[in-house]
Amino acid sequence: MSLRELYQEIIIDHGKTPRNFGKLENANRAQVGHNPLCGDRLIIYIEENEGIVNQIRFEGAGCAISVASASLMTEAAMGKSVKEVEALFARFHQLVTAGEAVDDLGKLAVFAGVAEFPVRVKCATLAWHTLKAALNPAKTDAVSTE
Ligand code: ZN
Repeated sequence: MSLRELYQEIIIDHGKTPRNFGKLENANRAQVGHNPLCGDRLIIYIEENEGIVNQIRFEGAGCAISVASASLMTEAAMGKSVKEVEALFARFHQLVTAGEAVDDLGKLAVFAGVAEFPVRVKCATLAWHTLKAALNPAKTDAVSTE
């Protein structure tokens, strides 16, 4: 199996069986995100305390890439500080727009191929934009990629 096929399998797996899926009852942050171009719609729930993402879950529906990205994002963000999450998003954004593999991205590297399909970048980054807005209480409107 090539690396590309392995990446594809991980995306399909997380798209079909997303991790940390469902409402987070003790969330103190929640944010809706919408990608009208594809029809992806997500809600990110966070239990944040003193700048640490203690728990993160999500609900919603969308294409395999948007759901897989949200699933892998929850795994990556769990237990991290808000600053670490924002730094991770910056590296992830670089990966899906430039296709540059950043070796400390871990499982998130599976989205490297998205850079070849610019229309899919919004699917892959929707969960991250929504998470960023959830961590910034000043922004209360629904996030839209458009
Ligand atoms: Zn999509």
